Formats: sequence, C-alpha cells, structure tokens
Amino acid sequence: MDRVSASHDSVTAMSGSWRSLDSSSSPTLGELAAEIHACRRCPRLVEWREARAADPPRRFRGEDYWARPLDGFGDPAARLAIVGLAPAAHGANRTGRMFTGDRSGEWLYAALHRAGYANRPSSERRGDGLRLRDAYVTAVVRCAPPANRPRPPERDNCLPYLVRELALLERSRVILALGAFAWDGVLRAMRDLGGAAPRPKPRFGHGAEAEVGRWTLLGCYHPSQQNTFTGRLTTAMLDEVFARAGELAARP
Ligand code: SF4
Repeated sequence: MDRVSASHDSVTAMSGSWRSLDSSSSPTLGELAAEIHACRRCPRLVEWREARAADPPRRFRGEDYWARPLDGFGDPAARLAIVGLAPAAHGANRTGRMFTGDRSGEWLYAALHRAGYANRPSSERRGDGLRLRDAYVTAVVRCAPPANRPRPPERDNCLPYLVRELALLERSRVILALGAFAWDGVLRAMRDLGGAAPRPKPRFGHGAEAEVGRWTLLGCYHPSQQNTFTGRLTTAMLDEVFARAGELAARP
C-alpha cells in the first residue's frame, strides 16, 4: 500500500460519512471564531486588509470582500491540523475562508482531496460545499499582511488565537506547518500549551519531524506560487507529506 492509500484508509476508517465541519459546529470554536472576526489589535494589518478590499484588482472588482480576520476551517475532531502563515490579501481576505480563493489554496485542497481529507478537490468560496474530515486548516496570523510578512509584534498579538484553537482541537496529534514561519509559530504556540520544544530547537525543513508534547510537528514547504512554479514543491512531495501525516495521526 502506498502512502497516499494508507493515509486515505486511516481517514475513511474513522468515519463513514462527511460531518458538518466548519468551526461554527463546535460551540467553543465558534465562540473563538466570533472573537477573532472582531479583532483589531494590529493597526497596520487592519488598515491593510481593509484597504485591499476597498481597492481590489480588476478581476475581483464588485466582489464583497471578507476583509476581517479569519478563524480556522475544518473538522473540530481533526487529528491533523495544518497551519499556514497568514491569509492572502485577495485570497482568504476576499473569500473569508482559510486558503480559499488563491493558487496556494488550490494546491492545498487538491492535496487534501487526494489524501482523503476533503470531499472535493477545490475551494472557491464559503458555502461551496467543501467539507474536511479529520483535518483542520488554520494560520499563525489571521489578517492579510503586506508582502505576506507579518512583523514579530503582530505575530505575537495573534498567537494566542492559535494557542486556543489548538487547545480546542482536542484530538489533534499531528501539526503540519506550511513553511518556516508557521513552523516557528507552532513551536511558540506549543510552548504556551506546555509542550516545550526539544533543545536545540528543531529546524524547519520539508519532511522534518519533531515530537513536542502530544503532537508531532511535520514540516512542508508552503504551497506558494514561488515554490510550486519553480518546482521546489511538487504534487508528489505534497502527497508524500500528507501520507506521512496520516501515518503519524493513526499511531495508537
Ligand atoms: S493579525 Fe491577529 S491579532 Fe492582529 S488584528 Fe488580525 S486577528 Fe487581531
């Protein structure tokens, strides 16, 4: 059995049907989501996210942008949590769902579908019928940052949301960090959750693994256009990572 099949089987064995799987289906995650949506703690990011919505590129003119911070999306009972950097200005900041509406999301959700975690291969907008099973997608920072580069104080402002989200994902066992920023952010969040990182601090790499507290942290190159256009990250590489995540999550 190849890794993709192993991952798919481990997921389908857990449940025979797709459940209602956005964060509002869990009262506690729903309460956290409402709090996140109202956050204005970082003036620079608030200004940026709203300005992008007020003056979108021609292809998105007339669209009603979300233009608020984002909560996570997926299965509240997920064993696999996937953590990215931050919403994209005209992706999730437009559609209101993590990794939805841009090329990175196309890569990510297609891979989730191939691995058996998603009921469809594409993610276009809220209400498009996409459901995840055993996976939850979130980010270290909840507002779209200029040049995809949040500043350290902005990361620190936002990190408590990730800490609380991971605490509420009680079945989570594997955290897939998309890129070095997410890897570092997750290690910081784990520290706040009582999972001290080993010393020396584990280094990010594609396929890197670290045991921290009750989680295995797994590294993956971010599916940014920069990485996918250049071949630094291929579909085969993504599939291997998700297969490995499935193996780790299925461990007793
Ligand atoms: S980045 Fe996070 S802390 Fe800052 S305004 Fe957005 S949601 Fe709030």
